[in-house]
Amino acid sequence: GFRMGIVGLPNVGKSTLFNALTRTAAAQAANFPFCTIEPNVGEVAVPDARLARLAEIAKSAQVIPTRMTFVDIAGLVKGASKGEGLGNQFLANIREVDAIAHVLRCFEDDDVTHVENRVDPVADAETIETELMLADLESIERRLQNIVRKVRGGDKEAVQQERLLKEAQAMLEAGKPARLVEVDAEDMKAWRMLQLLTTKPVLYVCNVEEENAAEGNAQSARVAEMAAAEGNAHVVISAKIEEEISQLEAEEAEMFLSEMGLEEPGLDRLIKAGYGLLHLQTYFTVGPKEARAWTIPEGTLAPQAAGVIHGDFEKGFIRAETIAYDDFVELGGEQAAKEAGKMRAEGKAYTVKDGDVLHFLHS
Ligand code: GDP
Repeated sequence: GFRMGIVGLPNVGKSTLFNALTRTAAAQAANFPFCTIEPNVGEVAVPDARLARLAEIAKSAQVIPTRMTFVDIAGLVKGASKGEGLGNQFLANIREVDAIAHVLRCFEDDDVTHVENRVDPVADAETIETELMLADLESIERRLQNIVRKVRGGDKEAVQQERLLKEAQAMLEAGKPARLVEVDAEDMKAWRMLQLLTTKPVLYVCNVEEENAAEGNAQSARVAEMAAAEGNAHVVISAKIEEEISQLEAEEAEMFLSEMGLEEPGLDRLIKAGYGLLHLQTYFTVGPKEARAWTIPEGTLAPQAAGVIHGDFEKGFIRAETIAYDDFVELGGEQAAKEAGKMRAEGKAYTVKDGDVLHFLHS
C-alpha cells in the first residue's frame, strides 16, 4: 500500500493528528481489519462516497474501502541530519514513505511552547527541508564513495547512478531540494531507487485554531502560497477538532461539523489530498459478497491493476470486463449495464480509469 509519513517540529500537533487518524480508523474496525500495525503506524480508509453507492445497488454484504498508511515520524529537530539522538532512525523511516505530510503550526497559543519561540510556519518548513537536504547530501556523498570502484570498472548501472547522484548533489548544493532535478523518462526508475528524501512530494498540513478551520488564517495563507510555488499541496485542518470528532458517533460528528461550518472532516480532506498528491486513483470490484475499492497509480494498465488484488491475476491475465462508475449507477447495476451495451471487454493494453468497475478474467 501507499504510505504517508507525518513529520513536523515538536509541538505542532503531529500526535494529536495521528491519534485522531488512528482512532477514526479504529472506529471503522468492524469492516476494516488491520488498522493499527505498530504504535506509530496506522491504516485509514480512503473516504469515497462512490463505494457505498455501488454496494447499495449491488446489495453487497460487505463494503471494503481501500487504505492508506500513515506513519508518525517523531524526532525531527534541528540537527537531526547529524544523526543525533533519534535522528538516524527517523531518517530511515522517511526513506520508506511515498510522500510526506508536513504538519505546520499555524495556531497561536501561549500555553504551547514553540521550539523557536515564534509562530512562523514558512520558516518551520524551511528548517525541516534544510535537515532533509543535509541528510540527502550526506547520503549522496556516502553513496558516491561506495560506487567509485564499480564506476571505474565501467558498470553501467553504477555509471548511471553516479550521474544522477551528481545532478542531485548540484541541486542540493545550490540550496534546492532534489525534486527540482529534471529527470528523463529512461532514468526515472533508477532515480526513484535513490530514495532521496527531498524527492518525496510534500503535503503541508496547516494546523490552525478551531475557529479558523473553515477559512484558514494569515499563516495558512502564507503556507498555501509557498506550496503552490513549490508544486506541493496543502490542506488546512484543526487537529483539535479532528481529535474531538474522532471521539463522536457519526451523527454527532456531522452536527458538530456543520456547526463549525465544515462540509467534511479535515481528515477526509487530508487523506484525499494525499491521494491526489501521489496521483493515485481508485477502481472497484462489486458483487453480492463484497464491494471493494482498490488503489492504483494513474496510468496503470489492466494487468497491473489486477495484480493489486493478487499476483496470479496479473500473471494469468486474460481480459477485464469494465463498466464505468457513472454507467453502473445510472443504469442501476451490472446486469442492466451489460444489457445496455455498457460493459466492455478490455485487454492488456487498457489503461484503467478512475471509478472503473472491473471483473478480471484470468487463467
Ligand atoms: P507534536 O509534538 O507535534 O506531536 O504535538 P502534539 O500533538 O503533542 O501537540 C502539542 C500541544 O499543542 C498539545 O498540548 C496539543 O493539545 C496542542 N495543540 C495541538 N493542536 C492545536 C491547535 O490547533 N490549537 C491549540 N491551541 N493547541 C493545539
